[in-house]
Amino acid sequence: MGAVIIDGNAVAARIGREVQAEAKKLEAQGRAPFLVAFQVGENPASQVYIRNQKKSCEEVGIGYRLDELPEDATQQAVEEHIRMLNADEKVTGMILQMPLPAGLDARRVQLTIAPEKDVEGMHPVNMGRLMYGSPRIGPCTAMAAVELIKETGVKVEGADAVVVGHSEIVGKPIGVLLLGLNATTSVTHIFTKDLASYTKRADILVVAAGKSQAMWMRYQREIKKGGKVPLPDISPLMKADMIKKGAVVIDVAINRIPEGFDASGQPTKYTEGKSAGKPKIITTGDVEFEKAKEIASHITPVPGGVGPVTVAILLRNTIECARATA
Ligand code: NAD
Repeated sequence: MGAVIIDGNAVAARIGREVQAEAKKLEAQGRAPFLVAFQVGENPASQVYIRNQKKSCEEVGIGYRLDELPEDATQQAVEEHIRMLNADEKVTGMILQMPLPAGLDARRVQLTIAPEKDVEGMHPVNMGRLMYGSPRIGPCTAMAAVELIKETGVKVEGADAVVVGHSEIVGKPIGVLLLGLNATTSVTHIFTKDLASYTKRADILVVAAGKSQAMWMRYQREIKKGGKVPLPDISPLMKADMIKKGAVVIDVAINRIPEGFDASGQPTKYTEGKSAGKPKIITTGDVEFEKAKEIASHITPVPGGVGPVTVAILLRNTIECARATA
């Protein structure tokens, strides 16, 4: 029997309803949640995020505003603006659009955000609280991955959990959260020797490497330099035979990669429709999904798994921040 496909959109919708009810309550108490997104300079890639943030906030009754500072804003001007938002009682949360223009110290900017208004859960104070267990505000993707594990109803305490990826915002906090739930947790990464020997014993497997996209990007860089390089291996990192029978598999990765390559080594293209002639770029995770779903007990798809829940957790964090600043 195939795995249960964990529906991230349904979980996100449930969290959205809870957030909406809480937002209403807070508003009635004169503490309406109000999120300010903060951008320095123009960044076309951020436009989609910003549009989606605004829409998501509107849907659940959270106020939203975008503050924009010019590209040449100094470190001092950026930090001043954040201090102003920290002091503004109407603003209950803020989100910093990354990346910042070169020359600005992003870490210092992030540190300026008051921890109780840090809806992304990235401030060292909030990261520190994570270590003490049961955080109310935490890094959104990490919290989303754990939310989806809880959704399965599988017992986490005492389970062997393996996280692939050890970034500050995803892999490491997932490891800490799982430890907090008393899973015996291993956090693996690019330097791990014999990755399969860990993943094969995982009752709970969280994969957050972004391997296929990293390979594709590295290949493009080499080509740009004029190098003659073999086609990259953009196949999923987590092959089905690296997964334990009955495991819960959470695929955090978002790889935007070509669907394949033609005989001349070019990404395959659309042959019809208005995209005809353009490279066919697909979104995939790190897990060999079709085969893995025959082995796992529960598995998240990409897209439609961790992604939508991450957005929902951002909204929930916004509610928690509004409560904390009340
Ligand atoms: P990152 O590049 O900062 O970290 C990647 C991690 O994976 C590192 O710890 C690295 O050591 C490990 N890794 C890379 N290749 C590996 C390999 N071949 N074997 C073992 N480990 C390997 O990336 P990140 O910001 O942590 O994001 C990880 C993935 O999660 C990306 O695909 C990203 O797009 C995705 N992501 C998804 C969401 C979401 O909402 N679903 C949010 C953030 C990030």
